[in-house]
Amino acid sequence: MNSIWPNSATRSSGELQIGGCTVTAIAARYGTPIFVLDESDFKSRIEKWSGSFRSIFGDSTGDVFYAAKAFISVEVAKMINQGGISLDVCTGGELAVARAAKFPGERIEMHGNNKSEAEIEAAIDYRVGTIVVDSLQEIDRVARIAHGKNRIQNITLRLNPGVEAHTHEYIATAHEDVKFGFSIATGAAWDALIAATKHESLKVTGVHCHIGSQIFSSEAFSASAIRLLNFMARYKNEFGGELANLNIGGGVGIAYTKKDNPMAAEDFLRTVKEVIFAESAKLGLKVPRVSIEPGRALIGPSMITLYRVGTTKEVQLEDGTARLYVSVDGGMSDNIRTALYGAEYTAEIANRESSAKARDCRLVGKHCETGDIVINSIDLPSDIAPGDLIAVPATGAYGRSMASNYNHVPRPGVVSVQDGTARTIVRSETESDLLALDVVESAIRLDDKSSGK
Ligand SMILES: *Cc1c(COP(=O)(O)O)cnc(C)c1O
Repeated sequence: MNSIWPNSATRSSGELQIGGCTVTAIAARYGTPIFVLDESDFKSRIEKWSGSFRSIFGDSTGDVFYAAKAFISVEVAKMINQGGISLDVCTGGELAVARAAKFPGERIEMHGNNKSEAEIEAAIDYRVGTIVVDSLQEIDRVARIAHGKNRIQNITLRLNPGVEAHTHEYIATAHEDVKFGFSIATGAAWDALIAATKHESLKVTGVHCHIGSQIFSSEAFSASAIRLLNFMARYKNEFGGELANLNIGGGVGIAYTKKDNPMAAEDFLRTVKEVIFAESAKLGLKVPRVSIEPGRALIGPSMITLYRVGTTKEVQLEDGTARLYVSVDGGMSDNIRTALYGAEYTAEIANRESSAKARDCRLVGKHCETGDIVINSIDLPSDIAPGDLIAVPATGAYGRSMASNYNHVPRPGVVSVQDGTARTIVRSETESDLLALDVVESAIRLDDKSSGK
């Protein structure tokens, strides 16, 4: 099997196995749809990224922060902790998961462009290593809350380097029209730095940027690192001291289909390292501690989604051809990426091998929405039939984490498989979970003004 599938994926007597478990056994025990995590695949990706990072950056090694938003659960947070890497959370909810996993606070960074006071308090109380600040109001808020708790909080400035990266190319402009970060070009970044240094309860320890997702070349990372380093050099010139940390964010791409050709971790890290070392030397800076924040690259390829086919329907097209619509028992509620950004996936019949001729199919979900498409066009064996299991690889990132209950469909759980054993790490929802939030309550009067008296 190629790199689109988790390491342990293999076919035995025609049937797909992951972690030594057959898909038939997984589906029989846990139902479908279900996310299946290849635990050793995930752990080996953590090891690979942290090992390569350490060996390439040497003394300048900062942190590999796993971006929790790609997918987080208590068990996954424990795997991240055991793997010795750090954790990037961006809401109180993600922080709550980290807390439940007893993830060490000093290895957590807190992101978000609109953290509530409660979220900031929770982060400071949990003694997170750094809070990445994203507005002037937030700088004041974090300073006030830290001061109230008699604490000095490390903060990192989220900068907008004016580099926006897409899969294959990037745009470098001065003014980028996005909600994230303080623009370097407009001077907003410098103003934020000055504002932050005025607070005794804050310590600015470095700068950060995140320029996009599913990126296939290191150039955009290098371009933004150069802009951040120049900002750090200005700090040195005006303040004397040096900012210790440079965080270049996440966004490293993975293969969803055979068309995708992602960068190997080592190649990516080595190229970016050379640029950072050269630019630091040129600017007369000590090489900073460099950190990165991969989400998708760590968890994406480690999970697959298992669906069961419910119906197939032949639809005649205007041009005289026909398309087979294959409906599975999930769809946009467990994978919104196709509808949201036209993401491409591949899929296979998982419970058997077929020698039937392939034909063009559209893999669709069960939701009341024409755009409820998992894969727009895919060749599948023409004998595909109700009852078949379909496996979609590379669904670990932004699948379960973006899942919804649209149409009151319970969200699928996550089963972790390894060495022929399986265990639930997130259970599938049931209809009682869906009903648990519905309340019958008698109305109460909220204030006197609205009573009309
Ligand atoms: C989303 C995000 C990441 C992770 O992005 P991937 O594409 O999953 O690697 C890292 N850092 C920040 C600030 C993000 O918003």
